[in-house]
Parts: sequence; structure tokens; C-alpha cells
Amino acid sequence: MMRNKRDIKSMLPAELEEYFSIVGERAYRAEQVFRWLHSGAAAFCEMTNLPETLREKLNGEFYITAPEIVDKQASQSDGSTKYLWRLSDGSEIESVVMEHDYGNTVCVSTQVGCRMGCVFCASTQGGLVRNLAASEILDQVLFSGKELGEKLSNVVLMGIGEPLDNFSNVTQFLKIVTHPSGICVGARHISLSTCGIIENIDKLADYDIQLTLTVSLHAPDDETRSLLMPINRANGVGKLLDTCGEYFLKTGRRISYEYAMIEGVNDTHRHAEELARKLKKTGSHVNLIPLSKIAESPLKASSSENVRMFAEYLMKNGINVTIRRSLGGDISASCGQLRSRHKCQNNRQ
Ligand code: SAH
Repeated sequence: MMRNKRDIKSMLPAELEEYFSIVGERAYRAEQVFRWLHSGAAAFCEMTNLPETLREKLNGEFYITAPEIVDKQASQSDGSTKYLWRLSDGSEIESVVMEHDYGNTVCVSTQVGCRMGCVFCASTQGGLVRNLAASEILDQVLFSGKELGEKLSNVVLMGIGEPLDNFSNVTQFLKIVTHPSGICVGARHISLSTCGIIENIDKLADYDIQLTLTVSLHAPDDETRSLLMPINRANGVGKLLDTCGEYFLKTGRRISYEYAMIEGVNDTHRHAEELARKLKKTGSHVNLIPLSKIAESPLKASSSENVRMFAEYLMKNGINVTIRRSLGGDISASCGQLRSRHKCQNNRQ
């Protein structure tokens, strides 16, 4: 990252306008520059409708982020494609593009690494390196769309990192990606997944963005959840579900819950019964997903028979359930796996 220069792609049109008014330029330049950046311009010299003197001025003051593709893997089985990007400081992050009949979805990373420490997750194994800038989150949407050659209509913040642990950059990204002059993804086509940082779930509710909030629950009781997810030791399941209930009251948007099924850990009848009891009144949706095996952990996925029985119990007890297959099993599509495999290979060289 260039010292002294500012990150122009992390700015909203109103912020660009403020800059242009300070330097005595016309306000409409903000809209022009914003449009260039969001159509993927990687240098100011590409902005041909700006006078050359202005392009030089911008170049002296700002930098434009643009990641480099390190690896691209297309799944043979389900049409998903995984990208490994290298950022300007050499950090590597992943995004996954999934093609569905209802539109193309990109799953983006929000941090380099993660400090949440969930025991089943590859992204957190090396800890947190740094937060991504709003521009670096946006670039994953811009450049994977460019690679695909098609519009990406859905964005999910479910890649590497904990979005609510990078709150201000993530909310700036949300404002930028939904802006009518930019890529303009509808807020209702955005999902954000969190391990449950309750103060920031509260803060997000105040932003009143009509996105879908997904909470990684993975267990209905404190004993099991604290074992899997250290965040639970600070705020237990009860407080988390209360916060989710308040989020729904404030935003009118129902929260969905992710539940990775892990053999012998969170997939017993007792867990199903407690989960159904606790979620019954919420009208929420539960996504059951068999755990993706990661090299760093002995935990195994529940059998498909057990996943089916667990789902049936929940449904019989009034819970909406989807069994999701883990996409891109053949391309290490669970978050953090391609990055950690790549790091490992580099270390061996
Ligand atoms: N930090 C955020 C988003 C990143 S992970 C969160 O915790 O929600 C996206 C989802 O994948 C989360 O639900 C996470 O718990 C889940 N996940 C991580 N590793 C997994 C694995 N090995 N198998 C199945 N799901 C996994």
C-alpha cells in the first residue's frame, strides 16, 4: 500500500465530492471518477473523460487497488470457481463464485485471516493478519465479475474473516456496493455471516440495511458452542439469541442460522431437541451443512443419514430447514482452505 496516498476506491461519491470541492474542481467529477473505479479502471490514465491535469493530480494524491490472481480453480462437480488473490502487500485472500439459476453469487473475504478461533475453520488457523479495506472487499466483486464476464447479482460475506470484527470497513463496503452509481447490488441480495459479535449485531441493526444476516450458531447449548467457538465464552447462546430477536424487531429482517453438522459433537437428538425449542418462536431458518473436513482438525462431518434425521426432527417441530451441500468440495471451497494450502506449499518450497 502506498504511503501518504489515499485509497480512492474506499470512498463514496459524497466523500469524493467533498475532495473535489476542496481542490476547486466541479462536483460532477466525483460521479465520473466513481463510475470509472466501479467499472474496474486500474489507473487514472484510463479515465479519458477527465482532463490530463486532473488525472495527474489524482495520481499524486490517491492509489487504486487491484488484486492479482494467484490461483483459479473451477469445480468439476458444481460449477463454482474459487479465486486466490494477492493484494498489494503480498497478503492472500479467497473468493468463490457460484453460478445459480437465480443469478451469480460471489462469496467474499473481509479480513486476511481471522482471530475468532473457531476450531473447525481453516481461516482462523494462522490468526488475524489484518482487516481488508472496503476497496479490497469490493475488488473481489469487481474482478471476479470481470473474470466471469457476467454480472454478479448476489454477494455473500462468508469468506475468510469475521465481517463484524471489521465493522467500519465492512459497512463502508456495503454502502459502496449498493450505491446506484456503482455496481449497485440490491441490499436484499447481500448476506452477511457472523460468528455472533453481539455489540456489532446491535450496531448493524441501526444501519437499517435490508441485507440478510446469518449467524453461525453450530450448537444450541453453551457447553458445545463454547467448545467449538471461543466467542461463545464471552456471550452465551441465550444472550446471542436475545440480540438476534432484537435485530429482527428493529429491522423486520429474520435472521438465518448456520449449523455445521459435526459427528458426535453437535448432531445428537439432544442437540436437535434443544435447537428446536430455542428457535421455535423466532420463525428463523436453519441451514444444515455437513462439516467440510479440514487438515488442521480431527472433526468429521455427520453422516448424511444423521443430517437427514436431524433435519426431519427440526421440521416436525416447526423449524424451516435447508440441508446445504458444501459447495466445491473438490476445490477446497470451505473458507480459508485454498489460502492455507497455498501458504503450506510456499513454506515447503
Ligand atoms: N466469520 C463468519 C463468516 C465466515 S465463515 C462466520 O463465522 O459466520 C462462513 C461459514 O462457514 C460460517 O458459518 C462458518 O462457521 C462456516 N465454516 C467454517 N469452516 C467450516 C467447515 N470446515 N465446515 C463447514 N462450515 C464451516
